[in-house]
Amino acid sequence: MKKIAVYCSSSDQIKDIYFQQAELTGQLMAKADLGLVYGGGMVGLMGQVARSLKAAGGHTIGVVPEALHIEGVVNTIDDELIITPDMHTRKAKMIELADGFIGLPGGFGTLEEMLEVMTLKQLGYHEKPIVFLNADGYYSRLFEMFEHIYDENFAKAEYRQLYHIAETPQNAMAYLNGYQPPALPDKWFV
Ligand code: AMP
Repeated sequence: MKKIAVYCSSSDQIKDIYFQQAELTGQLMAKADLGLVYGGGMVGLMGQVARSLKAAGGHTIGVVPEALHIEGVVNTIDDELIITPDMHTRKAKMIELADGFIGLPGGFGTLEEMLEVMTLKQLGYHEKPIVFLNADGYYSRLFEMFEHIYDENFAKAEYRQLYHIAETPQNAMAYLNGYQPPALPDKWFV
Protein backbone atom coordinates (compact mmCIF):
# COMPACT_ATOMS: atom_id res chain seq x y z
CA MET A 1 0.00 0.00 0.00
CA LYS A 2 1.28 3.44 -0.91
CA LYS A 3 1.27 6.04 1.84
CA ILE A 4 0.86 9.79 1.71
CA ALA A 5 1.98 12.17 4.44
CA VAL A 6 -0.66 14.81 5.00
CA TYR A 7 0.57 17.98 6.67
CA CYS A 8 -2.17 20.21 8.01
CA SER A 9 -3.52 22.42 10.75
CA SER A 10 -3.60 21.53 14.41
CA SER A 11 -6.08 24.39 14.95
CA ASP A 12 -9.78 23.72 15.42
CA GLN A 13 -10.70 27.41 15.22
CA ILE A 14 -10.89 27.52 11.44
CA LYS A 15 -13.66 27.76 8.85
CA ASP A 16 -15.90 24.78 8.02
CA ILE A 17 -14.78 24.76 4.41
CA TYR A 18 -11.32 23.62 5.52
CA PHE A 19 -12.80 20.74 7.52
CA GLN A 20 -14.97 19.74 4.57
CA GLN A 21 -11.95 19.63 2.26
CA ALA A 22 -9.96 17.65 4.84
CA GLU A 23 -12.84 15.20 5.21
CA LEU A 24 -13.06 14.69 1.46
CA THR A 25 -9.28 14.24 1.22
CA GLY A 26 -9.43 11.44 3.80
CA GLN A 27 -12.31 9.74 2.01
CA LEU A 28 -10.65 9.92 -1.40
CA MET A 29 -7.35 8.62 -0.01
CA ALA A 30 -9.10 5.60 1.50
CA LYS A 31 -10.91 4.98 -1.78
CA ALA A 32 -7.59 5.13 -3.65
CA ASP A 33 -6.05 2.72 -1.10
CA LEU A 34 -3.55 5.33 0.06
CA GLY A 35 -2.47 5.02 3.68
CA LEU A 36 -2.16 8.15 5.83
CA VAL A 37 1.06 9.21 7.52
CA TYR A 38 0.44 12.23 9.75
CA GLY A 39 1.23 14.04 12.97
CA GLY A 40 -1.01 11.76 14.99
CA GLY A 41 -3.05 14.58 16.50
CA MET A 42 -6.79 14.35 17.15
CA VAL A 43 -7.01 18.12 16.79
CA GLY A 44 -7.68 20.36 13.80
CA LEU A 45 -7.52 19.14 10.23
CA MET A 46 -5.14 16.35 11.29
CA GLY A 47 -7.88 14.77 13.36
CA GLN A 48 -10.43 15.31 10.60
CA VAL A 49 -8.39 13.64 7.85
CA ALA A 50 -7.60 10.67 10.08
CA ARG A 51 -11.22 10.19 11.22
CA SER A 52 -12.72 10.37 7.75
CA LEU A 53 -10.04 8.13 6.25
CA LYS A 54 -10.57 5.52 8.99
CA ALA A 55 -14.36 5.75 8.61
CA ALA A 56 -13.90 5.01 4.89
CA GLY A 57 -11.80 1.91 5.68
CA GLY A 58 -8.32 3.42 5.31
CA HIS A 59 -5.07 2.83 7.21
CA THR A 60 -3.47 5.48 9.45
CA ILE A 61 0.02 5.85 10.85
CA GLY A 62 0.55 8.56 13.46
CA VAL A 63 4.12 9.70 14.02
CA VAL A 64 4.40 11.59 17.28
CA PRO A 65 7.39 12.99 19.15
CA GLU A 66 7.58 11.96 22.80
CA ALA A 67 6.86 15.52 23.97
CA LEU A 68 3.55 15.66 22.05
CA HIS A 69 2.43 12.22 23.21
CA ILE A 70 -0.23 13.82 25.40
CA GLU A 71 -3.61 12.41 26.28
CA GLY A 72 -6.34 14.47 24.63
CA VAL A 73 -4.00 15.61 21.87
CA VAL A 74 -2.80 12.35 20.38
CA ASN A 75 -5.29 10.32 18.40
CA THR A 76 -6.39 6.92 19.68
CA ILE A 77 -7.75 5.57 16.41
CA ASP A 78 -4.53 4.92 14.50
CA ASP A 79 -3.59 1.53 13.08
CA GLU A 80 0.03 2.29 13.89
CA LEU A 81 1.50 4.80 16.31
CA ILE A 82 5.20 5.57 16.08
CA ILE A 83 6.73 7.54 18.97
CA THR A 84 10.00 9.32 18.19
CA PRO A 85 12.47 10.86 20.64
CA ASP A 86 12.18 14.35 19.16
CA MET A 87 10.68 16.52 16.42
CA HIS A 88 13.55 16.10 13.96
CA THR A 89 13.41 12.32 14.08
CA ARG A 90 9.66 12.51 13.70
CA LYS A 91 9.79 14.65 10.57
CA ALA A 92 12.47 12.43 9.04
CA LYS A 93 10.39 9.32 9.82
CA MET A 94 7.30 10.81 8.16
CA ILE A 95 9.32 11.66 5.05
CA GLU A 96 10.87 8.18 4.95
CA LEU A 97 7.50 6.41 5.30
CA ALA A 98 5.64 8.53 2.75
CA ASP A 99 5.45 8.01 -1.02
CA GLY A 100 4.16 11.56 -1.46
CA PHE A 101 3.01 14.64 0.42
CA ILE A 102 -0.15 16.73 0.61
CA GLY A 103 -0.32 20.07 2.38
CA LEU A 104 -3.79 21.04 3.49
CA PRO A 105 -4.27 24.48 5.02
CA GLY A 106 -2.22 24.96 8.16
CA GLY A 107 -0.02 27.29 10.16
CA PHE A 108 3.69 27.46 10.82
CA GLY A 109 4.08 23.73 11.51
CA THR A 110 2.48 22.82 8.19
CA LEU A 111 4.45 25.42 6.27
CA GLU A 112 7.70 24.19 7.77
CA GLU A 113 6.91 20.61 6.80
CA MET A 114 5.92 21.52 3.24
CA LEU A 115 8.96 23.74 2.73
CA GLU A 116 11.23 21.03 4.09
CA VAL A 117 10.01 18.42 1.58
CA MET A 118 10.28 21.02 -1.19
CA THR A 119 13.85 21.98 -0.30
CA LEU A 120 14.90 18.33 -0.01
CA LYS A 121 13.42 17.64 -3.44
CA GLN A 122 15.14 20.74 -4.83
CA LEU A 123 18.46 19.32 -3.67
CA GLY A 124 17.70 15.89 -5.13
CA TYR A 125 17.24 14.00 -1.84
CA HIS A 126 13.93 12.59 -3.07
CA GLU A 127 11.64 12.63 -6.12
CA LYS A 128 8.28 12.23 -4.43
CA PRO A 129 5.16 14.18 -5.42
CA ILE A 130 4.23 17.26 -3.36
CA VAL A 131 0.76 18.81 -3.56
CA PHE A 132 -0.68 21.92 -1.96
CA LEU A 133 -4.42 21.76 -1.55
CA ASN A 134 -5.40 25.37 -2.06
CA ALA A 135 -8.72 24.99 -0.24
CA ASP A 136 -10.73 28.21 -0.44
CA GLY A 137 -7.66 29.94 -1.90
CA TYR A 138 -5.88 29.65 1.45
CA TYR A 139 -2.38 29.34 -0.05
CA SER A 140 -2.77 31.91 -2.86
CA ARG A 141 -0.69 34.50 -1.00
CA LEU A 142 2.06 31.95 -0.47
CA PHE A 143 2.13 31.21 -4.22
CA GLU A 144 2.46 34.95 -4.87
CA MET A 145 5.53 34.86 -2.63
CA PHE A 146 6.86 31.86 -4.58
CA GLU A 147 6.43 33.86 -7.82
CA HIS A 148 8.39 36.70 -6.22
CA ILE A 149 11.14 34.20 -5.37
CA TYR A 150 11.35 33.18 -9.08
CA ASP A 151 11.15 36.79 -10.33
CA GLU A 152 14.03 37.77 -8.05
CA ASN A 153 16.11 34.71 -9.02
CA PHE A 154 16.17 33.21 -5.54
CA ALA A 155 15.02 29.97 -7.17
CA LYS A 156 14.85 28.76 -10.75
CA ALA A 157 11.43 29.05 -12.39
CA GLU A 158 11.62 25.35 -13.32
CA TYR A 159 11.16 24.65 -9.61
CA ARG A 160 7.47 25.36 -10.06
CA GLN A 161 7.51 21.67 -10.96
CA LEU A 162 8.64 20.75 -7.46
CA TYR A 163 5.04 20.99 -6.32
CA HIS A 164 1.53 20.92 -7.69
CA ILE A 165 -1.26 23.30 -6.77
CA ALA A 166 -4.60 21.50 -6.51
CA GLU A 167 -7.80 23.47 -6.10
CA THR A 168 -9.76 20.35 -5.11
CA PRO A 169 -8.99 17.07 -3.33
CA GLN A 170 -10.02 15.24 -6.53
CA ASN A 171 -7.37 17.12 -8.46
CA ALA A 172 -4.78 16.34 -5.78
CA MET A 173 -5.56 12.61 -6.15
CA ALA A 174 -5.38 12.79 -9.95
CA TYR A 175 -1.94 14.41 -9.71
CA LEU A 176 -0.64 11.77 -7.29
CA ASN A 177 -2.04 9.02 -9.49
CA GLY A 178 -0.41 10.23 -12.69
CA TYR A 179 2.81 11.51 -11.12
CA GLN A 180 6.10 11.19 -12.98
CA PRO A 181 9.15 12.83 -11.37
CA PRO A 182 10.08 15.94 -13.37
CA ALA A 183 13.58 16.38 -14.78
CA LEU A 184 14.81 19.36 -12.77
CA PRO A 185 17.95 21.44 -13.31
CA ASP A 186 20.38 21.50 -10.41
CA LYS A 187 19.82 24.15 -7.82
CA TRP A 188 22.85 26.29 -8.51
CA PHE A 189 22.82 29.45 -10.61
CA VAL A 190 26.59 29.31 -11.19
P1 AMP B 1 0.34 23.92 12.49
O1 AMP B 1 0.23 24.04 11.00
O2 AMP B 1 1.23 24.95 13.08
O3 AMP B 1 -1.00 23.79 13.15
O4 AMP B 1 1.10 22.55 12.75
C1 AMP B 1 0.57 21.39 12.23
C2 AMP B 1 1.64 20.50 11.71
O5 AMP B 1 2.69 20.38 12.68
C3 AMP B 1 1.09 19.09 11.46
O6 AMP B 1 1.25 18.72 10.11
C4 AMP B 1 1.86 18.21 12.42
O7 AMP B 1 2.75 17.35 11.74
C5 AMP B 1 2.63 19.14 13.34
N1 AMP B 1 1.93 19.35 14.65
C6 AMP B 1 1.71 20.52 15.26
N2 AMP B 1 1.05 20.36 16.44
C7 AMP B 1 0.87 19.06 16.61
C8 AMP B 1 0.25 18.23 17.63
N3 AMP B 1 -0.29 18.75 18.73
N4 AMP B 1 0.24 16.91 17.44
C9 AMP B 1 0.79 16.39 16.36
N5 AMP B 1 1.37 17.09 15.37
C10 AMP B 1 1.42 18.40 15.47
